[in-house]
Amino acid sequence: MKKRKKKFETDAVRTQIERSQYLEHSSPVYLTSSFVFEDAEDMRASFAEEKDRNIYSRYANPNSTEFIEKVCRMEGAEAGFAFASGMAAVFSTFASLLNSGDHILAARNIFGSTHSLFTQFFPKWQITHSYFRIDDLEGIEEMITPKTRILYAESPTNPGVDLVDLEQLGRIAKKHDLIFIVDNCFATPYLQQPIRFGADLVIHSGTKLMDGQGRVLAGITVGRADLVDRIYRFSRITGPTLSPFNAWILSKSLETLALRVDRHCSNALEVARYLEGHEKINWVKYPFLPSHPQYDLARKQMKAGGCVVAFEVKGGLEAGRAFFDGIELLSLSANLGDSRSIVTHPASTTHSKLTDEERLESGITPGMVRISVGLEHVEDIVADIAQSLERIS
Ligand SMILES: *Cc1c(COP(=O)(O)O)cnc(C)c1O
Repeated sequence: MKKRKKKFETDAVRTQIERSQYLEHSSPVYLTSSFVFEDAEDMRASFAEEKDRNIYSRYANPNSTEFIEKVCRMEGAEAGFAFASGMAAVFSTFASLLNSGDHILAARNIFGSTHSLFTQFFPKWQITHSYFRIDDLEGIEEMITPKTRILYAESPTNPGVDLVDLEQLGRIAKKHDLIFIVDNCFATPYLQQPIRFGADLVIHSGTKLMDGQGRVLAGITVGRADLVDRIYRFSRITGPTLSPFNAWILSKSLETLALRVDRHCSNALEVARYLEGHEKINWVKYPFLPSHPQYDLARKQMKAGGCVVAFEVKGGLEAGRAFFDGIELLSLSANLGDSRSIVTHPASTTHSKLTDEERLESGITPGMVRISVGLEHVEDIVADIAQSLERIS
């Protein structure tokens, strides 16, 4: 009889490493740097990779194995490797797949540190990049050069919550034989599985919704086994590996990912609806609000809208700052995807070093505010936003 494929929530709870001799119900933490061998032959065969077993925690550890296996099932991926942070995943993935002289074609709206990696460090190894506009995918093919190896995007984008058409990018990547990589951190595999749309690799910062409680840094890359093998060989030597303790935390967190993300999304939608039409707001953007310019695409490639709502307070930079200062309950922080709601004002903080023009290209206007909607009761979240807006003169 063919085995019935389990649902997302079931895999999230039931994917576990083998029980030890103590028959524990919940997976224990394997805080050990190394593993022992039976004899000389066992050790030889293990190092020769004739056996699939743990040798040293820089290579693999039972807790990271469980975390990787779970994310692979969630994303529909063949294999993966877990990293100490999202940026370790981003860097190691690019570094293991690219050679000197190669070219990356990336969406303009990518995470700030990924942008800095492309602009400040990759030029040292003659790795170049070009940015395409996510609202003009037609223009992409002209930007592909014989040296282009990777097509890279995030969707929804940060902080503008714009979407990128993953299926279209997948087709372009296939046609030109590019490795298509998606940073899926904003959506989580619960809301969107880029591999279904043609992605070869999917990267996550586990720090955000995967942990979801603002405790640990983590990253993971999953996807095609041949590519993951190259990433693994690079990473077991260079050492960006996730710690067993953080892997254990992450695997536990994923047991509740679906529940948490459902609530993040329903709270965020309610916040977005409240803001829409508010007299002190110019616009509000949320993927599952019918007024979002890419609402149809959102419905096609995502299950719900995610935790991030972006809006613009009337009155520019000063009004944006005033709204930020008026907040009482929500946290003023740069993180996102936490159980606690978080407010940021990109123009005066995370994106303050950009020129006005660069900011506008990333969809950031002076009065724009980003809220990562958390798991507090939505009436309290809305009340805090309401009282802060009330105070803006
Ligand atoms: C936070 C983030 C990262 C980096 O992750 P860290 O865990 O902070 O290193 C990468 N991509 C996106 C989209 C992010 O939001």
